[in-house]
Amino acid sequence: MGTTVERQERQPASTEVTEVAPDILRMQLPISLPGLGHVNTYALCDDRGVAVVDPGLPGKASWDALSDRLRQAGYGVKDVHTVIVTHSHPDHFGGAGILRHRVGAEVVTHRAFRTWLDPEEGDDAGPDEISDDDVEHAVADQRSTSPWQKEMPWRSGQFRPPMRRRLGYRLGRTLGRRWMRAPEPSRRVDDGNILTFAGREWQAVHTPGHTEDHLCLFSADDGVVLTGDHVLPTITPHISGLHAGHDPLDEFFTSLDRMAELQGATLALPAHGHPFEDLTGRCNAIRDHHHERLETLREAARSLGEASVVELSKHLFKQRSWGPMAESETYAHLEHLRRAGEMVSRRVDEDLHFQLVEPA
Ligand SMILES: [Zn+2]
Ligand SMILES: [Zn+2]
Repeated sequence: MGTTVERQERQPASTEVTEVAPDILRMQLPISLPGLGHVNTYALCDDRGVAVVDPGLPGKASWDALSDRLRQAGYGVKDVHTVIVTHSHPDHFGGAGILRHRVGAEVVTHRAFRTWLDPEEGDDAGPDEISDDDVEHAVADQRSTSPWQKEMPWRSGQFRPPMRRRLGYRLGRTLGRRWMRAPEPSRRVDDGNILTFAGREWQAVHTPGHTEDHLCLFSADDGVVLTGDHVLPTITPHISGLHAGHDPLDEFFTSLDRMAELQGATLALPAHGHPFEDLTGRCNAIRDHHHERLETLREAARSLGEASVVELSKHLFKQRSWGPMAESETYAHLEHLRRAGEMVSRRVDEDLHFQLVEPA
């Protein structure tokens, strides 16, 4: 991950609207998150108007950019009849609630979709406790996959307040209630469901890993795949270890296999970065990357013997990335090895330690 390479995903949002496939437009909305400069909002055009995929962060800046891009394409915001949200991260669902509220758009998500704006999540932290750092971490990390997680499992002494809730307060206060509307889905789909947009039939493909509720759409008609954050062109999505009772890395591998095996995929449309053609090749490269990471951890464990997750994370990540997110992703990899029988873990004081299983 050298700094010499300019990652596509980091580039600022272009105002240009491009037709990437017949009746499918790529529009870029500005976001400023660690490593990300824009989100691609795809417009699927038909006689009824447009369905938009992942309409950016909540707030006026995003709304104005969306209005501008739609206008360039000859549409108004009122022409948006449907919003499709690939997963429960704010740069993807942010515009959904307001579009439903203002123009009555349908909101389509995967069955498991859930955000920190959902009213059933209890109020357990006030706005005073929120720092900018929290917001950055919360947006970038996978709080959305573990709404009730209060502790980092690898450091039992560390209390981690429910970040999504705190982020909800923070954004609500910054943006005002006007812009902060929960993206209540009007239609929750399951794997294999068929949806019709832009004159095509799209197959819903549930792809957990990056989040539990990640949804990709595949059109067998002409091989177009909306890949969300599941498969990105030059970066790999964050895999969090905070989802207790799951092996998110294993789920991610399974979801990559499903993408790689789609018959007749010709064009991948990612949520960040440029569209690309070799979906299978990219899936294989991302899988290889994680297998290399697993090997790095095995080697570190071989030389260190028993070591804490925090210590091991420093072998996996460069110093500028050290911290809870790096630890979380390291923990996800270690848990994957433990579940495969390659490692054992035990608690030493506050910390969770891992070591390789001795060869018999
Ligand atoms: Zn995401
Ligand atoms: Zn994203």
